[in-house]
Amino acid sequence: MEDCIFCKIIKREIPANIIYEDERVLAFYDVDPKAPFHMLVIPKEHIEGANAITGENSSIVGYIFEVIAKIAKEQGFAEEGYRIVNNCGEKAGQTVHHIHFHVLARRDLGWPPG
Ligand code: AMP
Repeated sequence: MEDCIFCKIIKREIPANIIYEDERVLAFYDVDPKAPFHMLVIPKEHIEGANAITGENSSIVGYIFEVIAKIAKEQGFAEEGYRIVNNCGEKAGQTVHHIHFHVLARRDLGWPPG
């Protein structure tokens, strides 16, 4: 999608600090980290958000969780724990309308979140 900042990262039109990439997904560090480790994992397919997940495209969500588990092990925080967050819509504070999963690690994460 032309105006989407994450599509531009996928196309290398704007820079990002990339952790992992394959044909379906991209993982990169959040530019404004909320934890010592904070990455975003996105599908390469432009999907607006969680409300746009259907029977047609839902397999990407499972695949993203598979990639997150792999990266968590590689980065060494799988055992101590981490948080996966998806913000959907205005009240949740979604600012980029290309579905993405935040992965926060390496600090105590309070519950409930704000
Ligand atoms: P959300 O508020 O859930 O939509 O999350 C969007 C996230 O994207 C925020 O945590 C931003 O810091 C992050 N973000 C925005 N632009 C960039 C960028 N160019 N590179 C990396 N992260 C970004």
